[in-house]
Amino acid sequence: VVPIARPPFEHGEVVVEHGVIQAIRPAGHRSGADVHDYGDAVLMPGLVDAHTHLEYTALRGYIEDLPFFPWIRSLTAAKSLLSDDDWLASTRLGAAECIASGITAIGDNTDAGFTAQVAAEYGMRAAVYQEVFCVHQDDPVDQILRTLLGKVAVLRRWQSERVKVGVSPHAPYTVRPELFRELSALVQRGNLPGVSIHVAESAAETRFIQHGDGPFRDMYDRRGITWDTPFLSPTEYIVRTGILNNASLAVHCVHVNDVDLARLLQTGAAIVYCPKSNAKLGAGVAKLATWLATSGARVAIGTDSAVSNNTHDLFEEMRFGLMLQRASLEAVDVVTAPQMLDIATRGGADALGYGALAGTLSVGKQADIIAVDLSGSHTWPFTDPVSALVYSARCDDVRMTMVAGEILYEDGAFLTLDWPSVRKGSLAARSKTTMDKEDS
Ligand SMILES: [Zn+2]
Repeated sequence: VVPIARPPFEHGEVVVEHGVIQAIRPAGHRSGADVHDYGDAVLMPGLVDAHTHLEYTALRGYIEDLPFFPWIRSLTAAKSLLSDDDWLASTRLGAAECIASGITAIGDNTDAGFTAQVAAEYGMRAAVYQEVFCVHQDDPVDQILRTLLGKVAVLRRWQSERVKVGVSPHAPYTVRPELFRELSALVQRGNLPGVSIHVAESAAETRFIQHGDGPFRDMYDRRGITWDTPFLSPTEYIVRTGILNNASLAVHCVHVNDVDLARLLQTGAAIVYCPKSNAKLGAGVAKLATWLATSGARVAIGTDSAVSNNTHDLFEEMRFGLMLQRASLEAVDVVTAPQMLDIATRGGADALGYGALAGTLSVGKQADIIAVDLSGSHTWPFTDPVSALVYSARCDDVRMTMVAGEILYEDGAFLTLDWPSVRKGSLAARSKTTMDKEDS
């Protein structure tokens, strides 16, 4: 048992009643039909993917090997081809992947707006952030805001102890300052919960926001879009909008210096590290080691979706994220395996506002538990289970995924969804984007 809240111990059992953890103790107290014995496995808190876009899952492998700017342009073009049915199917595919991979909670930024429904249907814990964009100077800010609040109201129909709803002003370069002002006022009046924002992800973003040039400026010039340059770092700019608070997620933070970090931490926002997505798009390496060494920094980890990653495998994300720090800093002690496991469980739950309910195995908390088999040829033998989880384990070692005492997945079987129909349902979305590629 790896409770995270206290040291791991061997031959343990976790007692769950009415969705809540009642005891964590040496095994052998109980036997009978309601005992699930997972053998040489770790019982641990469910993993938390604090930043993804489940609706992009059907686009896995569709946009490969492009730098950040042309990648996001291709993604925007692909999005125009899909219908609501496609988005729903793609969101379901992503949720299924998460559940089978031991992810019990997600922070999901959605444009299409189906994640709350899917999370409720499948029993996942999800903090869902409705995305909003406002790029052109003639875009009607009042109307965009009304539409956004309407979408939030629709998402809130699915709100529960497991499903929370927030908003995501997409990024500093896709949301005009006028809209940031309106949203900040709503957040500060307590009318919107915390937000999730992509910030300081790419050099292209810094060039646009801080220096007023680069590919975003060129594209906007071609389209007749005017934009006053803030001449601030993207982080400083977002901090000054006043939109961040201790319920917010600042996602990526790759191009962040020490001054930016200090300003960000003053807001109370949590930072989401997305190492594989940032690496794959050539965006850079975020300074996780610095964040972890900074007091008051709240850190989570995210995959950032199948369209830039390509998997929701948090074991791989932890491993890759740790290795990147050690490789780039040429030092081993900069990040440890327990630290990575902590940010992928407790850190994520805390960042999404589920810290009191989940994130650790603790008596009285909800039973968000996974069983990870360590008897495989790539994990056996092991000494320290935490090392084995971070350095050897893979998403398909997950034998069981439970949220609030409800088993969603066990030994290859989904208990809250029909995998053949989810798999088939995603094909329509994929065929539309494939056809378009062949046409162009
Ligand atoms: Zn993202």
